[in-house]
Amino acid sequence: MTEPDRAPVGVLALQGDVPEHAAAVAALVGAKRVRSVLEPADLSGLGALLLPGGESTTLSRLLDESGLRDPLIGAGRGGLPLLGTCAGIILLARELEPSPGGKDPLPLGLLSVRVRRNDYGRQAESFEAPIPFPDLPGGPFPGAFIRAPRILSVAPPARVLAELKGHPVAVREGSVWGLTFHPELSGDLRLHRLFLASAGLLP
Ligand code: GLN
Repeated sequence: MTEPDRAPVGVLALQGDVPEHAAAVAALVGAKRVRSVLEPADLSGLGALLLPGGESTTLSRLLDESGLRDPLIGAGRGGLPLLGTCAGIILLARELEPSPGGKDPLPLGLLSVRVRRNDYGRQAESFEAPIPFPDLPGGPFPGAFIRAPRILSVAPPARVLAELKGHPVAVREGSVWGLTFHPELSGDLRLHRLFLASAGLLP
């Protein structure tokens, strides 16, 4: 390939911080290549798809209502690069630790992690912290954790990309990436860039 792929980059636009992810992607590949994904037909021809943060129970319900659940599982298994952040990693997970209230989303099972929702506390306990990222040039990444899930365990072939205070916060399994924080809120494009470059979508 002499030129970077020109494929569109999708942002799952059912709910959540969609505009922030779309802006991050647009800054890297140009606004014309950003596609909102709302229904199965929107997956056609995508080079990668981002699953933003939001409310995972709502997102899970909307995946069913839109008919996107099975096509998305198929696309992920077929190798479509996926990046899930916060609620997005909850959706990608293989397993969820049941919440005390009993109301949980149905995850897609595309990333070999077990997660517990809201495990860093409520909204008021949301925090920012620099995350040491061994594979990322330029020093620690500014992590924004907002009612974040905790990754309880990671099974091969998934591997940990970064940890904070002994807990994984970034995981990758082939072309599927999951982050428990919000890179789209930091103004730092390095993780979006790394993900899109690994998908062959940047020069
Ligand atoms: N706590 C939310 C959930 O369980 C995730 C929060 C977020 O995406 N910022 O869905």
